Amino acid sequence: MAYERTELPRAQIEAQEAVAHRIAARFAAEGRRPLALVDTYGCQQNESDSERIRGYLAEMGCGFTDDEFAADIIVVNTCAVREHAEQRVLGNVGALNHTKKAKPGQIIALCGCMVQQQHMAERVKRSYPIVNLVFGPHELWRFPELLERVFNERKRVFAVDESAGTVTEGVPRRRDGRVKAWLSVMYGCNNFCTYCVVPYVRGRERSRRPEEIVAEARELVAAGYRDITLLGQNVNSYGRDLGSGTDFADLLRMLNGIPGKFILRFMTSHPKDATEKLFRAMAECEKCAHHLHLPVQAGSDRVLRAMNRGYTAAEYLEKVALARQYMPDLALTTDIIVGFPGETEDEFAETLRLVETVRYDSMFTFLYSPRVGTVAAGLPDPRSKADKQRSFDALVALATEISSQRHAALVGQTLEVLADGYDPEADWPLSARTRNGRLVHLRGGDASLLGQFFPARITGSSSWSLFGESAIG
Ligand code: SAH
Ligand code: SF4
Repeated sequence: MAYERTELPRAQIEAQEAVAHRIAARFAAEGRRPLALVDTYGCQQNESDSERIRGYLAEMGCGFTDDEFAADIIVVNTCAVREHAEQRVLGNVGALNHTKKAKPGQIIALCGCMVQQQHMAERVKRSYPIVNLVFGPHELWRFPELLERVFNERKRVFAVDESAGTVTEGVPRRRDGRVKAWLSVMYGCNNFCTYCVVPYVRGRERSRRPEEIVAEARELVAAGYRDITLLGQNVNSYGRDLGSGTDFADLLRMLNGIPGKFILRFMTSHPKDATEKLFRAMAECEKCAHHLHLPVQAGSDRVLRAMNRGYTAAEYLEKVALARQYMPDLALTTDIIVGFPGETEDEFAETLRLVETVRYDSMFTFLYSPRVGTVAAGLPDPRSKADKQRSFDALVALATEISSQRHAALVGQTLEVLADGYDPEADWPLSARTRNGRLVHLRGGDASLLGQFFPARITGSSSWSLFGESAIG
């Protein structure tokens, strides 16, 4: 591959932090502590990116608010995967006209995948004059410098250059949770599935060095985090660009070696790259959740080929069987697209059959959404919206029925869970996850159980979650 992995020198991040401190001094001199609001759309990688934006904002001396009328700085971290996500962003940014009118000095910034698309950056420039700053995912590391330019130059700043992307270490971070943490292991994607915009906006696959990842995981465990999710668009190709021979299964074993009790999860696994070596590592690493998010996307071989997925339905089913052989208690989840251009009703029926064969614990189902610049957006798409919607509804009904049955089968068991949320007002005050990632709503415990592992008796279930009681003592 022509692309060469580049790691940003740490000095560059230190220079950005110096800018952040300069901004903090400026606010202090003005005698104010500005409030910031970071609004996140889309995937876990975006949530993780927003934690870094908040890290920089905290270094600038900002406090945080959820109230857009109170905020001095609003950062909207956008998603481009489907049109629906883009429309929500644009609608909400349009509504900020009111807040800006009420607070004329308010700074509004848009970042993330939606604005990395040239046509969207131009649309924002043309039609959303209230937006002061626009930057793509490749420029996140220099957010302080871009914001300082907005302050100094008093004009709109747009930073959305095309780039394969770099690996940046050392950007400060303000994490959202205390029990669960995101840990990116790689960025970008090389797969170019024909429907997907991600490779165009997130750049080429580039892996963080294993020693950086292990060091961050150690810090997380020391700080009390107990549920670590490794993130990448396709974690199964982790390490290919490092040239050191370390692959994702090796990385899992390294992380599993960190002392302390915690759970390791990861997403997403591309089926074409999921190997027996990975399944063995998952089965043998006691910290690794027996959960695989293995997006199949479709059940017809012709559609899978048109999607450029690199596997057939039979190959996919073989991998599922092999993974289940290694982990009989495996929780399996997936993503499916309904209505890919040219998908016929018979081809969609093959998706239903595959779902019936695999019986997923839960599924994320999407109606196909054309994305500018992708191959699929240029394909003939004769099936009507109403027809696609009928197929979509049938798939959701099947998914719900299967999840309900799989959850119901766990009622009566006692499972180890990790509590990660508490709301004293709720009917079921504690929320927890089983090792395999299933959500459990609990009674019979309080906030002191947050971050603790303990047994829970499962007493009920729905299609989305389990219900139970803590069974301590
Ligand atoms: N890298 C991950 C996730 C990518 S986006 C993976 O490969 O699985 C998450 C999901 O959004 C995809 O799995 C796919 O099911 C869905 N998706 C992506 N592009 C889409 C589009 N144009 N229309 C509808 N769904 C899409
Ligand atoms: Fe998109 Fe395919 Fe890459 Fe996933 S693997 S991000 S679906 S191109």
